[in-house]
Amino acid sequence: MNLGSVVRLWEDDLLIKELERKGVLSESLLERFALKYGKLFWRAIKAVEEKRILKYVFEPSGKYLWIVIGKTRKYLVIPDFYCSCDDFYFNVVTRRKRQLCYHILARRIAEILGLYETIRVSDTLYKDLLNEIKLYKIRKDKFTVS
Ligand SMILES: [Zn+2]
Repeated sequence: MNLGSVVRLWEDDLLIKELERKGVLSESLLERFALKYGKLFWRAIKAVEEKRILKYVFEPSGKYLWIVIGKTRKYLVIPDFYCSCDDFYFNVVTRRKRQLCYHILARRIAEILGLYETIRVSDTLYKDLLNEIKLYKIRKDKFTVS
């Protein structure tokens, strides 16, 4: 994977910059986002609207994890860098068709607009949450014939 390109994901993204500056998703911004990201954008907006972007803050360490709830399960999103969903794996990492999945876009928009839920939990749950995401992947790899 070309990490450099992912890290610089938003560097030249004028829409994200404008959204950061304005702090609201105006009609014209909405149209331009839709033009640029198409289906990904509408899925991202739906996730934001449905409050499916969660920031788990672990205490007392202060560590945090971003989780986006998909249709059937939770995905771990490392801001602007990684998502545990299949779309990210196949279309971003393997086929390099795109730079992001809708979860990454949704998290970014939710963070800028402050439209995410913060869930404070004990540090002891940190590994459980990661395992919940990892276990699903292992099970799936084992039973998926591709
Ligand atoms: Zn994803």
